[in-house]
Amino acid sequence: MLHCVHHPGYTIPLPPGHPFPMEKFRVLREQLSGLPAHWHEPGPAREEDLARVHAPAYLEAFREGTIDERAQRRTGFRWSPALYRRTLLETGGTVLTAALALEHGLACNTAGGTHHAFAGHGSGYCLINDLAVAACWALAEGGARRVLIVDLDVHQGDGTAVLLADEPRAFTFSMHCAENFPARKQRSDRDRALRRGTGDEAYLDALEAELPALLADPAPDLVLYDAGADVHADDRLGHLRLSDDGLSRRDACVLGACRQRGIPVAAVIGGGYDRDIPTLARRHARLHHAAAQVTGCAVAMVN
Ligand SMILES: [Zn+2]
Repeated sequence: MLHCVHHPGYTIPLPPGHPFPMEKFRVLREQLSGLPAHWHEPGPAREEDLARVHAPAYLEAFREGTIDERAQRRTGFRWSPALYRRTLLETGGTVLTAALALEHGLACNTAGGTHHAFAGHGSGYCLINDLAVAACWALAEGGARRVLIVDLDVHQGDGTAVLLADEPRAFTFSMHCAENFPARKQRSDRDRALRRGTGDEAYLDALEAELPALLADPAPDLVLYDAGADVHADDRLGHLRLSDDGLSRRDACVLGACRQRGIPVAAVIGGGYDRDIPTLARRHARLHHAAAQVTGCAVAMVN
């Protein structure tokens, strides 16, 4: 049975017209109601888990709501107690997803992938880096010896790359669109930058060329998979051209490759930006359906 993680608190009210599609988490959970899965509700991320990757002064300012205006603008969000709480729930959700993956082999969050957050500041809708927090939790407390991050969001996982640069037991891989945010790319352990307009076949060829080597060396005992749906052709912020079917094939490719090798995989949904929330949520739901498929408990996806 597939294990999935969700908290109703992933969605909070935002001011009217805010560009972040906050409702997608709630709608995604509704759309997945027919999926045969065990659902788990996370608690907020623990202070000690956050402290492994974030600076104490930043965590204090984030907790107290004293992050300065300019730094707040860079994140795309205005601080509020509700935003603080949802960020901790989302991060706690990814840590729980990693724990469930280590226990059961595969688990999916209905949020997560906040890969632009750095040690001392947030950026691009990311306040706390859930991937780095979960990777360091898995190494410190989850019994993992090596963690691989497969970040297939259309944007480079710049925060994760920097946060884990000095952690030899964590390997970061980012495949993203070269001509996209962040303008200044960081150095992951491995980066694969794709040209604007890359479609299904070229994308999947690139992925299939990268994956076997990544899974063989450093031979991870946990994969954190960021399945950003912003690689889709109709995404507002992506510049790649994957189809619905391409998204499903990509997710099946990553999850299947990990399954085949017996490597536990924890998946998060990553970015996805569309004003039509049900359409966007359906793109993200392809991840959970692909996961159900590889665990052998699939149901037909209703489009
Ligand atoms: Zn993205």
